Amino acid sequence: MVILLNENYHVCTGCALLCDDIEVVIDGSRIIEVKTACRKGVARMKGCSKPMSPTVDGQEIDINSAIATAADILRNARTPLVFGLGNSTDMAQKKAIELAKRLGAVIDDTSSFCQGPILEAIFNEKIRSTTLEDVRNKADVIVYWGADPSNSHPRHLSKFSYFPRGLERQRGWEEDRTMVTIDIRKSHTAKISGDKFYQIPLQGDAEFIDALIDALSGKVPKVSFDYDTKRILELANILKKARFGIIFVGLGLVYSIGNIDPVVKLMDKLNKISDFYLIPMVGHYNMRGFNQNLFNETGYLNRVRFEKGDSNNVRHGVEFSIVESLNNKTIDAALIIGSDPLSSLPRVVVEHLLNIPVITIDPCETFTSGNIKSKSKLGTNLTIPSALSGVECGGSAIRMDGVEVVFEPIIETDYPTDEEILTRIIEAL
Ligand code: SF4
Repeated sequence: MVILLNENYHVCTGCALLCDDIEVVIDGSRIIEVKTACRKGVARMKGCSKPMSPTVDGQEIDINSAIATAADILRNARTPLVFGLGNSTDMAQKKAIELAKRLGAVIDDTSSFCQGPILEAIFNEKIRSTTLEDVRNKADVIVYWGADPSNSHPRHLSKFSYFPRGLERQRGWEEDRTMVTIDIRKSHTAKISGDKFYQIPLQGDAEFIDALIDALSGKVPKVSFDYDTKRILELANILKKARFGIIFVGLGLVYSIGNIDPVVKLMDKLNKISDFYLIPMVGHYNMRGFNQNLFNETGYLNRVRFEKGDSNNVRHGVEFSIVESLNNKTIDAALIIGSDPLSSLPRVVVEHLLNIPVITIDPCETFTSGNIKSKSKLGTNLTIPSALSGVECGGSAIRMDGVEVVFEPIIETDYPTDEEILTRIIEAL
């Protein structure tokens, strides 16, 4: 399924929901008003609060010199890391994969420490997934597990899951849908679930899943923590009766269980007695696109190393994740595109970035580019500004449910797109 843009509307690239019903008011080359989007989307579409400029070691340079310097750094590196791309278009991601092949680089993204295992299970058809349109039209039981879309994807409930009328759910949330939230704290989303909120202790997800599977099998559920067994039986009953059930998996669940086998087991059990699907609550607007593009090219969705001079020789493993590559100091330069690893990984993990050349390509100054600029001890630090995708450049992206969304630029910019910068780096190598 591909969603092509209606010419009156724009696509918001503020999160992986890729809302395609956005209206804007433009004054000259600026967006001055954004309609329909949530607060997060408005902030994204109005542009960066601190735009990036081309710099080397904190000194301003012109963009052509910045691109030439990037090519020099990457050419001279023994094992560079190409990382990020969750906020880049499909075309830029494909260029980055081509660049990694040319360089014999390690390539990885944030899915390596978040939704990667869930997406891998979906790509390998171990878990059934569906589209958000099907959820809107058919879902009668909606489960948010370790997810708080009211903050992470603010229009999720109103556009697709709980609140809208659907073809087979004409009576909407009042009568036709049940929404369950399972989480360790009473989030904003949990409050909307009312008495269908199931609070579990920190790291209690795997045990809770086991107990739920027991309850679904007609056994008495048991957990080692203090919990009212009747509530687990009540939840099992809701899930059993679903005609079209959907579980939205958030990072709370993924981080808690580590290994996703319990989720696969639960989905198998649910699909023996009911009809259930799963969609991961992907954050960055095109993280799933990166995983899909790399998977199509190599058979792996992240943590890949291409052999220099033999790009068909592809290796995959935990040692090629950004975390292990930095911990083991196996990379000697980093190209970070549309990502901010310093704000999502512990400082002790990313410390090595201060000792190697780092190139950041981004429309906005990030915590990573700002910090490396001021604290880099040994490496050259290079920043290259790019056009803001969805606003200043068009392209396509893969929504959290795997649907492709095509979008056009809304305003013009002097900055090149990620794809153009990567193309020029490849040409300069
Ligand atoms: S929910 Fe996400 S895609 Fe939709 S308007 Fe908000 S930030 Fe943009």
